[in-house]
Amino acid sequence: MRARHPEWYQSDTDASKVKGNKSSSSSGPVVWPVPDVIAGKYSFTYNPDTKTGHRGIDIPGGINGGQQVVSAFNGVVVRTEKLTNSYGNFVVVKSVIDNKEIFVYYAHMASFQVKVGDQLDPGSQIGIVGSTGKSTGPHLHFEIRLDNNYDKQINPMNYLGGY
Ligand SMILES: [Zn+2]
Repeated sequence: MRARHPEWYQSDTDASKVKGNKSSSSSGPVVWPVPDVIAGKYSFTYNPDTKTGHRGIDIPGGINGGQQVVSAFNGVVVRTEKLTNSYGNFVVVKSVIDNKEIFVYYAHMASFQVKVGDQLDPGSQIGIVGSTGKSTGPHLHFEIRLDNNYDKQINPMNYLGGY
């Protein structure tokens, strides 16, 4: 089911630069990171050539936020931080999918409840949707980097393909 929308990464990313992630079929269970918000196709505009555009997807959190943020994949928490000028309260979870290390960023949360070293399953609670850091309203900024490289942004929808 996760290969249901192959056109997404054809149209939204440079496929030659994210070689090998055409199929996430070996990634195991995947959970939509904000379960109370309807899943859907979200726009990813990062351009790897110009290194411009939006580096993740923004899942809305309602007027007041407060929805649970859960882990989309199996993984381990590798970073938790509060950066008031950028990601706000954010958590980074490392996962291995299709033999590649991906680093999943959950940003702008009102709060988080995990610590470095925590093992997460798909659906494990990470925090609460908020609007901390450089944010204009409650939402989850959900971003995936290959090898934790700031310039190797991957369209998260590639890995949320079941949705
Ligand atoms: Zn964003």
